[in-house]
Amino acid sequence: MDVNKIREDFPILNRTMCQKPLIYFDNSATTLKPDCVIQTITNYYTYLGANAHRGDYEMSGQVDAQFEGARKIAQKFINARYPEEIVFTSGSTMGLNEICIMLTSQYLKDGDAVLTCQSEHASSILPWMKASKKIELQYIPLDSHGKITLENVKKALNDKVKVVCLAQVSNVLGYQTPIKEISELCHARNIILIVDGAQSTPHIKIDVQDLDVDFFVMSAHKMCGPTGVGILYGKKKYLDVLEPVFYGGESNARFDQCGHVLLKESPLKFESGTQPIEAVLGMGQAMKYIEEIGQDRIHAYEVELKRYFLDKIKDMNHIVVYNKDSECGIVTFNVMDHGKMIFAQDVASFLNTKGIAVRSGQHCAKLLPEVLNVNSTVRASFYFYNTKEEIDTFVEALKEVTLENC
Ligand code: PLP
Repeated sequence: MDVNKIREDFPILNRTMCQKPLIYFDNSATTLKPDCVIQTITNYYTYLGANAHRGDYEMSGQVDAQFEGARKIAQKFINARYPEEIVFTSGSTMGLNEICIMLTSQYLKDGDAVLTCQSEHASSILPWMKASKKIELQYIPLDSHGKITLENVKKALNDKVKVVCLAQVSNVLGYQTPIKEISELCHARNIILIVDGAQSTPHIKIDVQDLDVDFFVMSAHKMCGPTGVGILYGKKKYLDVLEPVFYGGESNARFDQCGHVLLKESPLKFESGTQPIEAVLGMGQAMKYIEEIGQDRIHAYEVELKRYFLDKIKDMNHIVVYNKDSECGIVTFNVMDHGKMIFAQDVASFLNTKGIAVRSGQHCAKLLPEVLNVNSTVRASFYFYNTKEEIDTFVEALKEVTLENC
């Protein structure tokens, strides 16, 4: 992989931060955007401009073709069986909320249980906590590293569990969940499996048919696409029968004064109102861009960067890493000074002065600190446009992190 060539695709990498060349290691929060995605968005506003699915003139027909073209790209990207299984959303959070609201109002009964775990993101847990019905949330015990093991999933399953909702990759520790095996366990018990793919789609090839998941969500901005757009995948058998959460323009075929509403078929029945058209087109472009580089190469390179970093800090005993063995480019750590842990946000602020962007805190997974036994952490998340030279600068900066300097 020619990283220097790839870096030329990202205009933002020419900027500085705190008068230093930008070193962007906050890719799990959001990724940088390549020129082709920026151009796609600009092209929509410059040359297309019309709404989707509403006009009878040439320009709107062109928008429709590109909009539905983006759906087909997304279908291929996650290997869905039908384009009708791809619903555009504003991102993973919206997708997870929509699925939760639809299932609680149309499928689950009071007292049914949803199985999750303590490393999940707020967007995956909170919708169930705030659901309209009394849904019992049960948690798969994590192992001492914070990992979900198949054995623990098997032990956690019981007759009350009707839905399992898990991330394919944890946004804090980067562990990969054995989704395919969990799907087999779920379907043997008639349990619906929802997978949060916010952190997996940027790094690994997704095949929803092979994984046999019932629902899957992702966010474009985590994989070089625009913010405010993502997809909700649902198996056709579910999307055909579920009623949407939102109602409005373009999702219905007709309605009358008595309140009879005839909805369109999926996916349009789930896409009321004007969609973020430029973002949908930008997401399609981002998917093509990622596929051209290749998820296998992206994943292998990130792991290489992570190993390089771990090797460089192996004798720096004041750095405590919580996820040495996780399978992606996330390193979550704290820095000690004379036996005292330096506040993670102070570490991030110090790194900022060196032009290095990392995340600090609890990373939206507010139940995990209990498991790790630490209140907050620093997270560096590498992506395919990062370099070993950037890691060298990062390591040098970490050598200067002391209680006094922070
Ligand atoms: N799930 C996971 C695992 C995430 O990491 C994130 C974002 O950080 C989300 C869900 C929410 O994604 P979004 O903010 O794009 O809706």
